Amino acid sequence: MEEGRTEITRWAEVLRNACSAEQFGREIFFPLRSYSVDAIGGKNGEGYKPAGYEFLGGNRHKGHPAQDIFIYDRNQDGLDDRTGRPAEILALADGVVLSTFIEWVPDENFKHIRGGNYIWIYHPGLGIFSYYAHLQDVFVEPGANVPGGGRIATVGRTGTKAYAARSPTHLHLMLLRASDMTPVDPYLSLKKAS
Ligand SMILES: [Zn+2]
Repeated sequence: MEEGRTEITRWAEVLRNACSAEQFGREIFFPLRSYSVDAIGGKNGEGYKPAGYEFLGGNRHKGHPAQDIFIYDRNQDGLDDRTGRPAEILALADGVVLSTFIEWVPDENFKHIRGGNYIWIYHPGLGIFSYYAHLQDVFVEPGANVPGGGRIATVGRTGTKAYAARSPTHLHLMLLRASDMTPVDPYLSLKKAS
């Protein structure tokens, strides 16, 4: 664990040096096109439960240090019921794409990948990472600069739990502070942005 923490500090510094914060805006955009704070699960952001989360704790995380943003999809076909089209995910703020996963399929080999298809973005202006999970299509590649509010993906039902019939279709959005990888609640920022 200690070694992991040293690595986190080191990487935070590498990223800070690699991306000058002044070149990236600090404005926050609501990450689902044509949705607002009302689409966030629970009342007043109560779906955010950071207790027990430890970035270095491996894949079996406790808690839910994130907000789930639900789309209108009663028949669970992954499409927005209002438009019959996929719901578009937008970058939370200006940033650099760090990693993506786009190969999730519902079979045994992917059972451990709870996020399904996902994107990690580093936001130098804010000093945070954003993580978007359960994606269908991903439109960005690692290393790419993305503008805040730019289209990066579509909402999907990928990931073990999100694929199950009982799960309403949603975007899982987690923010981590880059300096120490502790979770940050996006709720108030999302409310302001929507
Ligand atoms: Zn979630």
